[in-house]
Amino acid sequence: MTLVDEKTLNEMIEKYTKLFRLTDWRIDVEVVPASDLDHEYGVTTYDLEMKIARIQLADLDYRRAGLRKNPAPTLEQTLVHELLELVFVRVRDGDDRQSARVDWEQALNCVANAVVGHERSLVC
Ligand SMILES: [Zn+2]
Repeated sequence: MTLVDEKTLNEMIEKYTKLFRLTDWRIDVEVVPASDLDHEYGVTTYDLEMKIARIQLADLDYRRAGLRKNPAPTLEQTLVHELLELVFVRVRDGDDRQSARVDWEQALNCVANAVVGHERSLVC
């Protein structure tokens, strides 16, 4: 069950790609069965030279999922996290050790949560 409809998702994509200055990228976002993503909430693949990316978001009830983290991120937070992967794609130092990857993912989660929280406070 997806928590956002297609219109809401498209509005989110438009808002955040503008906010993060990713409008020169061609980014396809699709919601896929959670089982396709091997326990990830979102997966991004990209071609930096072509500036094309594909973001896959797990189709699940995030609040009930409780996969590994508590609380689970919302679909909006996951979308923002995946877009931040593109924002910082040139900044990553390529350290692929497990501890570095965990630090990287946690840093992006912190920024994603802050951005989404800020956007929500503007709407209310
Ligand atoms: Zn990530």
